[in-house]
Amino acid sequence: MSLRFVLVWAFVLQTFAVVGLTGYLSFRNGQLAVNNLVSQLINQVGDRVDQHLDEYLNNAQQVNQINADAIATNHLNIDDFKGMEKYFWRQQRLYGFTYMNFGNPEQEFLGVGNVPNRIEIAEITKQHPGDLYSYTVDNQGNRQQLHHIQPKVRTLSEPWYVKTVAARKPIWSPIYNWADIPVEMSMAASYPVYDAQGRLRCVLGIDLSLSEISRFLHQLDVGQTGQSMIIERSGLIVASSSPQPSYTIKNNKGERLKASDSQDPLIKATAQHLAATFGDLNKIKQDRRLDFEFARKKQFVRVKPYRDAFGLDWLIIVAVPESDFMAEINANTRTTIWLCIAALTVAVTIATLMARWISQPILHLNKATREIAKGKLDTTLNIKNSNEVGELAESFNWMTEQLQASFAQMQALNTALAHSESRFIQFLEALPIGIAVKSLDNKVAYLNLTAQQLLNMDLASLNYPQEWPLYVVNTDSKCPRESLPTMRALKGESLLLDNLEIRRDGKTIPLEIQATPILDSQGKVIYAIATFQDISERKQAQKVVAEYNLMLQQQVQERTLALEQEIDERKRIEANLHTANQELDRLARLDGLTQLANRRCFDEYLAAQWQILLQEKQPISLIIADVDYFKAYNDTYGHQAGDLCLCAIARVISKATRKTGDLATRYGGEEFAVILPHTHLEDAIKVAQRIRTDIEELQLPHISSQVSQQVTLSLGIATMIPNPELSPAQLITIADRALYQAKLNGRDRFVIATFPSNS
Ligand code: GH3
Ligand code: MG
Ligand code: MG
Repeated sequence: MSLRFVLVWAFVLQTFAVVGLTGYLSFRNGQLAVNNLVSQLINQVGDRVDQHLDEYLNNAQQVNQINADAIATNHLNIDDFKGMEKYFWRQQRLYGFTYMNFGNPEQEFLGVGNVPNRIEIAEITKQHPGDLYSYTVDNQGNRQQLHHIQPKVRTLSEPWYVKTVAARKPIWSPIYNWADIPVEMSMAASYPVYDAQGRLRCVLGIDLSLSEISRFLHQLDVGQTGQSMIIERSGLIVASSSPQPSYTIKNNKGERLKASDSQDPLIKATAQHLAATFGDLNKIKQDRRLDFEFARKKQFVRVKPYRDAFGLDWLIIVAVPESDFMAEINANTRTTIWLCIAALTVAVTIATLMARWISQPILHLNKATREIAKGKLDTTLNIKNSNEVGELAESFNWMTEQLQASFAQMQALNTALAHSESRFIQFLEALPIGIAVKSLDNKVAYLNLTAQQLLNMDLASLNYPQEWPLYVVNTDSKCPRESLPTMRALKGESLLLDNLEIRRDGKTIPLEIQATPILDSQGKVIYAIATFQDISERKQAQKVVAEYNLMLQQQVQERTLALEQEIDERKRIEANLHTANQELDRLARLDGLTQLANRRCFDEYLAAQWQILLQEKQPISLIIADVDYFKAYNDTYGHQAGDLCLCAIARVISKATRKTGDLATRYGGEEFAVILPHTHLEDAIKVAQRIRTDIEELQLPHISSQVSQQVTLSLGIATMIPNPELSPAQLITIADRALYQAKLNGRDRFVIATFPSNS
């Protein structure tokens, strides 16, 4: 979209929008004002009709009331027709009544009022029953000459008289067309006058012409084509503002029309709309406002009920077409449209001129800018305006000068940079390690001299990386493309490898390769740089070291094996030693002759049990036994037999003390001791008795004994509950004393140590 187009359209659209909106709003406001005005108008018209009816109809009823009062108070003599007619004439003139009637039961009648082209006084008297004498009247209300005589008049059979007599109260007569003037429609306010006895004296009637009400409606201003009317609930027209008649003439008799049959189109349409809206007109109980469409125009309607005390029940209807008031609004709308078109034309012209004025220099500027973009830096603008565009042109020219200067400067810099770059390349070329740079599109951007020699590649074959003779060490496979160090570095990895080698023309060169990604200022990889060097010598050295290491390892393994064997041997000797020691220890605690625990064992065991039972506060018993007259036994049977005897006794004692924890010991010589932990005295006695019984059963002969023919024992029994004030030595002592006592008492028995009195 060109600048000129945008400027013109922006201006035009704005103008169009503003003018259009203003026009629309003024049209809307006008319409609202009209609605307002019309509703005010129909309100006012309705109210004025209401007021007029009040005055016109109430006057008649009030005058009847006044006249009836005058008759009752004898101020008005109903027998004096001359007096009455003057009185009626004045009232008729004063209130504008159509006709005033008087009738009495004697069939007399007096009438004063309007007849075509004149005012008459008419009477029917007793002298001429049924004959109506009509007289002309002067302007003082005096009878002048007889105008005509109308025979057989039945005025006292007319509704104004008959219905009033029947009703016996003031009423409105039904509306009727005059018999002699069918175009006149009238209605009478009738009043029956009674005497004190309730006898009818006369009926007063005032005729009101409904044409009079129609005339009033007609002269009301209801817009240009609006109409007002009054109808009865039956729909029959009472009066209307239309020039069309509210009746038809059939057989020379007037007949009232219904509003829906009126020849006036608006009245007819309004009546039909009301009938359609309410169905029955009796349903309209209050003031209503409605509108409807008629002849493609909106019509505003007001319907107002009108009632009075004498039985009237009418509807006042006012209908006004909206179009009556829209003419000016429509004219305004047309003016607005024309103004709009004029404003638009002016706007387009101004906008086009302005757009050209604004865009011309900008187009120049645009062209000049393109020239510069193409490289013509000496382009200048020749715009001499003093406004912002002029300033812009000046700035532009200044900018091109700056640009030229910058360009020159840049060229100088470029030359310097190229120089510096070639020097830098010289440095790189001189390096003894290979350098390769790869760009992101996987092309070799640079390869220095050392690299070219190592790879044995010239610069022309640089960009065929699949040809690179890189192999994985100790395999026949080429390094896969995606595992090439530069490829990995392009993916962001920094790495150091020494498992790749160059194989070319039968030669193998192991390499150490270091690859690193090169990042731009945003941290994105743009290049990968790889440095690599021949590590043949290092590999050779590593090989020698590895071989030496292997040798060392073998020597260590051999030495370790020898040491392990030595350790096993030592362990075996140690185990033997331990077994020997255990045997030694056992032997140290055993008595060699009897195989019972020896005295040393006795001492250790007693001390240990004493400590345990001291904690547990449990009893410990000790039995010491001594063979009776054993010296004599030796003497008699020999020392060897003595030994065998001791062994037999030892077996008996050992067997008698089977309870866990009990220990039978050889205390010394031919003395034995039994340690009984957790053993009360009663149980210790049982043990001693069993020993004695078992010895007895052995029946070892001892002819030298002074107490028996067999070997016997004497035993001392002692029991203690260890406490810190006692000691194992005391237990031994009292057991020993008990044994001594057994010897004294005659041997071959046991004695129980008494404690503590004996200790
Ligand atoms: P008593 O009834 O008063 O105990 O008289 P006794 O002869 O047994 O008294 P004494 O203690 O004087 O004698 C103990 C003897 O036991 C002395 C010794 O010859 C003998 N005897 C001690 N040890 C052994 C031994 O190992 N083997 C043999 N055969 N005799 C021993
Ligand atoms: Mg002895
Ligand atoms: Mg002894």
